[in-house]
Amino acid sequence: MIGIYPVYHSIIQTEYIKSKEMGGNLVSNAVSYAMLKISMNPLDIYKKLPCINCGECSAKTCMAFAVKLSKKELSTSECLKITEQAKNEINIMLSDIKDWKEKRLAELFEEIAQINFPLIAEGIGAVSYKDSLKIKYMGREVIVSHTDFRDNLSIWDKLLVLMYIKNSGNTPLSGKWTAFRDLKNGLIRAAGFTDICETPLAKMFEENREEFLKKLSAIGSKKTAGFSAEYSFVVHPLPKIPFLVLLWSAEEDFGSACKVLLDSTAADYLDVEALLYLGQAMIRTMKLSR
Ligand code: SF4
Repeated sequence: MIGIYPVYHSIIQTEYIKSKEMGGNLVSNAVSYAMLKISMNPLDIYKKLPCINCGECSAKTCMAFAVKLSKKELSTSECLKITEQAKNEINIMLSDIKDWKEKRLAELFEEIAQINFPLIAEGIGAVSYKDSLKIKYMGREVIVSHTDFRDNLSIWDKLLVLMYIKNSGNTPLSGKWTAFRDLKNGLIRAAGFTDICETPLAKMFEENREEFLKKLSAIGSKKTAGFSAEYSFVVHPLPKIPFLVLLWSAEEDFGSACKVLLDSTAADYLDVEALLYLGQAMIRTMKLSR
């Protein structure tokens, strides 16, 4: 293999080893690490492009092209200036991401194979349904069996739901709202959570408040009271992982602000790496909703 492929492979392997050493959630740690390192950083793809911004592709600039490639929204063949070698290397990177995700998905299905759905359903806030589980994810009901999803979800969303099932948490919610950094192992990912979840929420709120509130409502949020924020909502990306979303309008020199608090039990249901990605998945779902 050439190019960046071995680098990513070693990142993932290192993360696996670290996870093992830490006794952490092997799949979750590796998945979330790769999500951050691979799917969200098109810079490595950009470096392989001609970087001349000739404007002849639909993306118009090389950076925009790299972003779209990383999301699989375009193909390398749309760039007429790219070298064959760069094209091959990028295609390897992209196919590796796909294979990697699918491999993790298959592994997670294997890991939940022995889980007794009726036994864990109540603990995770799901409903046992025939041989499957009905789970509310981002405001919509999804049905998952031991081998497949009935609903059309992105692979990232499927990974999250399966991790949630695999963990089979059953700690009663405490009702104590907690900053991400104060969750178990949260400090190390707190800045990432701000970048991935809180900042985009504040930006969406500032850009079009009416639209933002509509999108928040589309994922099942409920207005709440008793907090100093201008707007307070509770939303359940997963049944036992509520987010308290607090929003403030822009003031003089300061832009809009957002803080997301979680129930203090959240890390019993998903580890912090996966929680971080859950925040990102919420943003993605809101952006896609109409
Ligand atoms: S066609 Fe290629 S070189 Fe031109 S802007 Fe698009 S990606 Fe960049």
